[in-house]
Amino acid sequence: MRILITNDDGIQAEGLRALVEVAQDYGTVKVVAPDRERSACGHAMTLHDPLRARPVTSLGHEALEVNGVPVDCVNIALTVLWPDRCDLVLSGFNNGPNLGFDVTYSGTVAGAMEGCINGIRSVALSMASFVSGAPIHYETGKQWLRENWELLVTAPLPELTFLNVNIPSIAPIELRGTRVVGMGKRVYEDRVEVRHDPWNRPYYWQGGVVVMDRNQPGTDVQAVSDGFASVTPITLDWTHHAACESLAHHFRSGVPT
Ligand code: MN
Repeated sequence: MRILITNDDGIQAEGLRALVEVAQDYGTVKVVAPDRERSACGHAMTLHDPLRARPVTSLGHEALEVNGVPVDCVNIALTVLWPDRCDLVLSGFNNGPNLGFDVTYSGTVAGAMEGCINGIRSVALSMASFVSGAPIHYETGKQWLRENWELLVTAPLPELTFLNVNIPSIAPIELRGTRVVGMGKRVYEDRVEVRHDPWNRPYYWQGGVVVMDRNQPGTDVQAVSDGFASVTPITLDWTHHAACESLAHHFRSGVPT
């Protein structure tokens, strides 16, 4: 099996190494990842700057670091390293959760999304740690991935669908199992902090605190809060098909009802 690994925390990230350690037991691993952290870049693509890909030898597998974002990395990998495509794209392990709306900001998820667009089975993997700076339990992510590898790779999925996995950053013994769930709601508060530079000019720093309602049955948010790994199938078709039907009705009749 030909496995491409990327991430958004950068090629030096501990989570990427952890992912390589597992994946190498299941096939030929190649890595293409950003040369620095690019978290929260979403599904961005670099258009106006040239991309450089430099070989990296420290991972023990063919690897390139790219001065771009995860989408760039996947596309370069599929041009340079796997021109005949590959069988699996893994993105992660991200240092931090990608739950609910995080999916739209996440570079980790975007890496898997790009694999999916290219018709390749793709999985985004994130370690859901909620304490900034706390050590991440990558050993739990590794163990979970080994136990679920076959399912992740072979379970039937509809077209244009990839998997978003969040594993709680807790000791392996504390992990309660796995839930297949939908996306929850994850909202941030005090998103933009206003600060001032030494010349008293304002500048702005985005971040904010998550205000997460943990009581969201059937979602990734609640599964991870309850100590379960979450697996969410995500489709590239963002259409709300039911709304499509009712909206078409309104447009036909021309009157809001
Ligand atoms: Mn990240």
